[in-house]
Order: sequence, then C-alpha cells, then structure tokens
Amino acid sequence: MTVHINLLISCLRQFMGNDQIVDSHDINYIKYSTEKRGNFASNPAYVIFPKNTDELAKIIAYCNEFEVGVVPQGGNSGLVGGSVADVSEIIISSKLMNSIVVNPSNLSCEVGAGAILADVKEECNKHNLFVPLTLPSQCTCTIGGNIATNAGGINVLKYGSTKDNILGIEAVLPNGDIYSDLNTLRKRNIGSDFKHLLIGSEGLMGFVSKATMKLFPKPKKSIHMLLSVASINNLHSMFQAFYQEFYPYLSAFEIFNSYSLHLAQKHYLSHWFPIKRLDNHWYVLATLDLYNDSIDFYTAITNQINQVIAYNKFSDNYYITENDKIWDTRLCISDAQKQEGFNIKHDISVPIDKIIAFIQETEVILAEKYNNKLILVIFGHMGDGNLHYNISLKDGDNINDLRVMQNEIRAIVIKQAIKFNGTFSAEHGVGQIYTEQLKEYYYNNQYFYLKKLKHILDPKNIFNRNKVIVN
Ligand SMILES: Cc1cc2nc3c(=O)[nH]c(=O)nc-3n(C[C@H](O)[C@H](O)[C@H](O)COP(=O)(O)OP(=O)(O)OC[C@H]3O[C@@H](n4cnc5c(N)ncnc54)[C@H](O)[C@@H]3O)c2cc1C
Repeated sequence: MTVHINLLISCLRQFMGNDQIVDSHDINYIKYSTEKRGNFASNPAYVIFPKNTDELAKIIAYCNEFEVGVVPQGGNSGLVGGSVADVSEIIISSKLMNSIVVNPSNLSCEVGAGAILADVKEECNKHNLFVPLTLPSQCTCTIGGNIATNAGGINVLKYGSTKDNILGIEAVLPNGDIYSDLNTLRKRNIGSDFKHLLIGSEGLMGFVSKATMKLFPKPKKSIHMLLSVASINNLHSMFQAFYQEFYPYLSAFEIFNSYSLHLAQKHYLSHWFPIKRLDNHWYVLATLDLYNDSIDFYTAITNQINQVIAYNKFSDNYYITENDKIWDTRLCISDAQKQEGFNIKHDISVPIDKIIAFIQETEVILAEKYNNKLILVIFGHMGDGNLHYNISLKDGDNINDLRVMQNEIRAIVIKQAIKFNGTFSAEHGVGQIYTEQLKEYYYNNQYFYLKKLKHILDPKNIFNRNKVIVN
C-alpha cells in the first residue's frame, strides 16, 4: 500500500503545490488528524487540500487508479469517527473550496463544500436572508460535512434537516467523474433524485464539492422562553399546546434535565441564569420567530404565551426574552459535560409521543442494573423526537469503570430506543460507532441496499472504507 501511496503522491505533485500536500512532519497535520473527543486514533498517510472541483476530480481519479483509501473531511467536528483515517488512507480536506455566492432574488445560495456554516449564515444575513441549520458546532463544521451527515440541529421542527434545504449538488464520484447538478429549482420531477444518495451518505458515495441551498426570510424578531417544569409528564402536553397555538412561529422546542443545567451552570453560566434551578425539574427552551416587528404584535404574542402557560399550569418559574443569549444555556451542555471527563453519548430518536415513556423506563432499567451509579445528562430536540441521552458517572467513582461498561450501556439504551419504535442515530450518523447496529437492526433494508449501491458507485471501496457498511 505504501508503494501505491507514493505513486499517488508523485502524480499529485505534478499539479499541486507543496502546501496542498501535508504529511505527519508538517505542523498543520495534527489539526486534521486529531479526533477531538479522543475516541479514535487518526494517522492518515497525507492530508490533501484541493483548490477546486477539477483538481479534486483529478486527485480522486488517481486514488481510484492506485486504490488508495479516501476520507473526505470538512470541519472534523463529526461525532462518530467518520472523518478519521488510518495509514493506508489519505484525508481530502474541503478547506480551500469555500466559496459563498448568495442569490437573493431566487432565495438561494451556491456554496463550496468547505464553507463554514457560520460564515454562510453570516453572508446570507447581510441580504436579510436566513439559513435555518443551527448547530453548536457551526463555527467549525462545513456545508459539505453538513450534507454528508444530513445535519439536524435545533430548527428541524420548523425547517426540516439539511436534506430538506438542499436544492442541488455537485460531487466527485469515486471513479473521478464529476456529478454536476447545481440546480436551484423547488420543483423538479425527473426520476429518483440522485442527490438524496449523497445527502447523509457520510462520505461513502463520493465527495460533495458544492451545493445550492434554499434560503428563508430572516425573522424580524424572536421570542425565547425558558421554563422550569415540575413534572416530566407535562413536557409532551406542553409541546403539543405550543405547537397548536404557535405553529407558524415555533422554530425550536428543546428540553433538558436538571443535571444538564447544573453542568452548564457549573462550567459556563456561573454569573447569569434568569430562573431558579430545582433538582428533578425539567427545563424547556423554545423560540418563536416573528416576521412582524411591531410592539403591538410582540405584546400580543407574549400575552398569549403567558395565557397558555397559566391556563395549563405548566410553570410558575419561567422567563421570556428577545435576547438569544438565553440559548447558551442549552448549547453549552455538551461541552460542559465534556469538562467532567469521559461520558457515553447517545443520539437516539423516538416518536415524540413516546419520549417520556422512553426516558422513564430506561432510567429505571439503568438505575436497577448499575445500582444508581450513573448520572443521566439528557437534553435534546423534543420537537423532533431526538434526545442526546448521555451518561456520566457519579463523583468519586472510577471513570474507567464507565469505559468498561460502555458497550453494555449503549446496547441497553439502543434496545430501548428500538423498542419504542425509534433508532440509534438521529443526526450524528453511523460512522465507526454504529456499524454493528446498522447491520443488526437494518440488515434486510437500509444495510442491504446501501451495500449494493456502494458497490456500484465504488467497486474498489476506496471511499470511507471502514465506516458505515463494513464487510
Ligand atoms: C459540540 C458539537 C455539537 C454538535 N451538535 C450537532 C447537532 O446539533 N446536530 C448535528 O446534526 N450534528 C451535530 N454535531 C456533529 C457535527 O458538527 C455535524 O455532524 C456536522 O455536520 C459535521 O460537519 P463537518 O464539516 O465537521 O464534517 P466532518 O466531521 O469533517 O465529517 C463528517 C462526515 O462527513 C464526511 N464528509 C465531510 N465532508 C464531506 C464532503 N465534502 N463530501 C463527502 N463527505 C464528507 C466525512 O468523511 C465524515 O464521514 C455536533 C458536533 C459537536 C462537536
């Protein structure tokens, strides 16, 4: 394999600059070869930085010829080990392919795969337009990575996930062909839409090089509300009430348990938090986006919110604000938990009417099996049924015990999610973590047909060969 990689690199050097081909002796290497959560080793033979689609196509054609493994990489913020490589592979980074062209009159934009999501949002914002995809990792993740993982985030409730907002895609396929379809049409029925094979494909079917995306009017004002809820049983009825009353405006409805908030306060929010945190309470953070910025309209909607909360007796400990800083409470939870050391992360999805039963039953099972040693840090997107069901160990317990128990705990949580008609990955993907589960739970459908399609598009299995579908 080393011979093949050497041949590949000598071909690439004929048309690429030295700064576009980086190996382990270069100081930049570490940034692209480190998996930030420390769960996977990554030591690619080289990291390659194409400048445009034609260059990318040439690189990939050579990789195909020499059968060198390719790992596409965007911001390297993925959580399932998808963008890491071994010594027999090269990482191809989209970093230099980061153009952003906004077309305000068509409510669309054309974006290079390496454009950082936050930059795309900012550029569109200048035209009073809105990119709804909103993730805690938006200052590092790229549009190519968002497409490859079909990223979700906090606004799926109103705007859908990445797949719902991509109009067209340009990609380089594993044989080096360029698939070019940067259309900006909202309606176009010309057979099965090939772009859906690339969206969510986690870099198995090709390298996304550009995309066209839908844009939305920028909300003129937003109302955010943070509520403490005494009983978990109220969360679902509260969501239903808000959805019914405020459907066109409701863009996010997130929940988190008291321990999540405790961690957020401990590590990030020590000086500021507008309501009282109570043990055993649950917290809701929801946003309504308004397209009318008159004071009268704002007051009317705020009064309506107060009435819905009071009439249903949802909470008497809540706070309403226009200031989106309140979202720090929710968006810092994952990082706050990381500060506490190793933890087990889950990204499960269950139908929204089963979320409460899932949480209650799974908590009892884990408490009984592990003698109440586990701490549950539960937060997520109630509005679309996606929970980050994360697990830490109580203070004083040996963190290595959690590492040892990790597979067993993960199997229990996933089995529970499946039992409640859910699944093991809502928005993070399969990567290297869930390959067994994909095979176990989806053998006759998703797994079987993906494997067939992968073989057609990538018969030499050069793209992300150790991810998603293995053997
Ligand atoms: C703190 C934190 C919070 C997060 N919150 C969310 C969240 O709320 N919702 C959510 O969905 N995700 C979340 N994520 C996960 C992650 O940010 C997303 O999956 C994101 O879409 C990955 O983008 P990236 O550019 O970093 O991709 P990378 O991590 O570089 O790659 C991810 C996968 O996509 C493939 N890939 C990358 N670029 C391309 C390309 N151009 N063509 C083909 N394949 C490609 C890679 O091979 C890999 O398999 C979070 C991550 C962090 C660290």
